[in-house]
Amino acid sequence: MDLFEKCYAPSLQAEIREKGIYPYFHALESRQDTEVIMEGKRRIMLGSNNYLGLTTCPEVIEAGIKALEKLGTGCSGSRFLNGTLGMHLELEAELADFLGKGDAMTFSTGFQSNLGIISAIARLGDYILCDKEAHASIYDACRLSFARTYTFNHNDMADLERLLVSLQGKNGGILIVTDGVFSMSGDIANIPEIVRLAKKYGARTMIDDAHGLGVLGNGGRGTADYFGLADEVDIFMGTFSKSLASLGGYMAASKEVIDYVRHSSRPFIFSASIPPANCACALAALRHLRAHPELPKRLMSLSNHLREALISRGVKIISSDTPVVPIYTYEVFETLEAAKEIYERGVYLNPALPPATPEHEALLRTSCMATHTEALLDEAAEIISSVLKERVYLKESKND
Ligand code: PMP
Repeated sequence: MDLFEKCYAPSLQAEIREKGIYPYFHALESRQDTEVIMEGKRRIMLGSNNYLGLTTCPEVIEAGIKALEKLGTGCSGSRFLNGTLGMHLELEAELADFLGKGDAMTFSTGFQSNLGIISAIARLGDYILCDKEAHASIYDACRLSFARTYTFNHNDMADLERLLVSLQGKNGGILIVTDGVFSMSGDIANIPEIVRLAKKYGARTMIDDAHGLGVLGNGGRGTADYFGLADEVDIFMGTFSKSLASLGGYMAASKEVIDYVRHSSRPFIFSASIPPANCACALAALRHLRAHPELPKRLMSLSNHLREALISRGVKIISSDTPVVPIYTYEVFETLEAAKEIYERGVYLNPALPPATPEHEALLRTSCMATHTEALLDEAAEIISSVLKERVYLKESKND
C-alpha cells in the first residue's frame, strides 16, 4: 500500500471545502486585538486566547523591539548549551516568585512544556491519571512518557478515586494531571478534591494552567490560587501564548524537581530556546500583569457581560466562570454553517469539533479579552444570536 494513500482518501476537510464552510486558516492582516482585519474585512475578535489583550500593549511591544535590537533574532541553540539568555533566567525567577514555587523553567511552546515535563517526571513503571478532556499535548506527553496512563471521566472525582484505589500497592509513582481551566468548555477542574485524593493515595499533582494564568486567582495567579491551594499542587505548567501575549511555556515546582527536569527532559534539552523578542514580551507581560491586578477582574466582568448578552438573546451557552463562553451547536455541519455565517457578518469565533470535543457536542467557542468593551460584546452577541436563530436547531444545553 502507498504510504500516501491516506492523503488522497475522502476527508472531512474536502467535504467541508466542497460545501463552502471550511473555517480554518483565515489570514489576519492586523494585530491580534479586539477588532481585527481578516481577509480584508473588520471582524470582532471573539476567538482569541489573548485574554488580557497584552499583544497590543505598548510596554510589551517596546520590550520586544528592544530585545530584538539588542540580542538579535534567535538563540540558535538549546537552553542547555548556547541558548540561555540572562532574560530567560529573569523570566524564570519572576515566574517562580509570582507563582510561589521554588523555581521555574521555560520551554519553547506550551505544547512542548507538557511533552517535556510529563515525559521527564513519569517514567516506565509509573502511572499517570489524566482527565478525559485534558489538552491534546497532555495526551501526547503521556504517550511519550512510557508510564501507564489511565483517564478518568471529566471532572469525575469518584472515577479518579476508583483509579487511585486500583493502584494501591503498586510500585510506581502516580501523577494526576489536569487542565486548570478546560479550553473548550471553560470548566474549572475540581482542584480541592484532586489535592485531597492525591494526599490520601500518595500521588503527585500537575495543573496545566494555560487558560488559568492571568485569568483566575489572586492577581491572575491561576486555578490553584483561585481555590487557595497554590501550595498544595506540585507542578504548575502554563504557556506564554495566551495571557502573556507571546510564545513559549513554563513549569514551576520545587527547586529539586525543576533541577531534575532541566537535566532530563528531552524536549527541553534538544530544542532551541525561546527567541529574545518572545522572551522579552513574556517578561514584560508578566510584569504588566503584576502591576495591574485589576486586569483579571475586568476580564471576568466582561465575560459575565458576554454571557448575559447571549443568554438574554436566547442563546444557549455552557455556564462557566471563566472567559471561555462556549455555545453548543452539537453537530459538525450545523456548527460550521453557523460559524461561517457569523464570520460573514463580522465576528470571528472558533468552531470546535470532535475530537476536541466529545461526539455530538461540537460548539462555537467564544472567549473574552480584558480590552473588549461592553458595546463590542453586545454587537457580537446580536450577530451570533441572529445567525443561530435563523440556522441552527438549538437543543437544550447540557447544563440546563
Ligand atoms: N495546554 C492547553 C490547555 C492549551 O489550551 C494549549 C494551547 N491551546 C496548550 C497547552 C499548548 O500551548 P501553546 O499553544 O502555547 O503551545
